[in-house]
Amino acid sequence: MGSNPTEGTTKDVVRVFENSLVHPPEIRARARQMFLAGKTVADTARAVGLPYLTVWHWCNDRPEARLQGTELRCFRCREGVDSPTDPAAYVYLLGLYLGDGHLVTTARVPVLRIFCADAWPDLIEACDVAMRAVLATKVQRVQKQGCVGVQSYGKHWPCLFPQHGPGKKHERPIVLADWQLSLVESHPGDFVRGLFHSDGCRFANRVTVRGKEYIYPRYMFVNESTDIMGLCQWSLDLLGIAWRMNRRNCLSVARRDAVATLDRHVGPKS
Ligand SMILES: [Zn+2]
Repeated sequence: MGSNPTEGTTKDVVRVFENSLVHPPEIRARARQMFLAGKTVADTARAVGLPYLTVWHWCNDRPEARLQGTELRCFRCREGVDSPTDPAAYVYLLGLYLGDGHLVTTARVPVLRIFCADAWPDLIEACDVAMRAVLATKVQRVQKQGCVGVQSYGKHWPCLFPQHGPGKKHERPIVLADWQLSLVESHPGDFVRGLFHSDGCRFANRVTVRGKEYIYPRYMFVNESTDIMGLCQWSLDLLGIAWRMNRRNCLSVARRDAVATLDRHVGPKS
């Protein structure tokens, strides 16, 4: 048989199909290994004792060639890749998503949408950059009243944010997957930045004592979901930042050293 697989007959093609069903994956893996180590297809075929065409298909089956669009960049689907290229960007985006994001999976192509208030221009840019760093090839900005919806269509957003589901986030349990927990554990500062950028605020508490004004900066995080609130508390604990609950749905960071530490991770909004 010649070196060009197109010279194979229909009978060969049928045999290839049968072989690929019959041969155990170990033989296929061994053949690919030999081919990748530098053997020719013909030598490999002889070594494993199988038809040339069968082995040619095994050796030229590149998973990348079958991947399209966001699948190419999805670290949950790509073979041999199990973490994001930019874990800090992923964890930040996870914080934004849990705070004020929506993943709509009812459309033909799922869309991740995060609402950013107009008053925070840097946030819109940071959200756009994070989406591109994680998965998006295209990001759109949709002007709404008082805010901008930063959104990106991609079939693989649901792989990266398995917390999506019908209804509001505070009406269903929000539980992070083990792989998400370990990413947050290694990047807690990026996670709290995402949470505070979407659902938090930093404000100046002004106090006048004997005619002199003192300003105490504070942070607040407001979220209706007790699960998301728990994740916020956990990540602040990881950073050693003191917090307390003002109300059931409102967390505050007010101690001077705690505010200073949070400033380093979240930064004042601009
Ligand atoms: Zn995927």
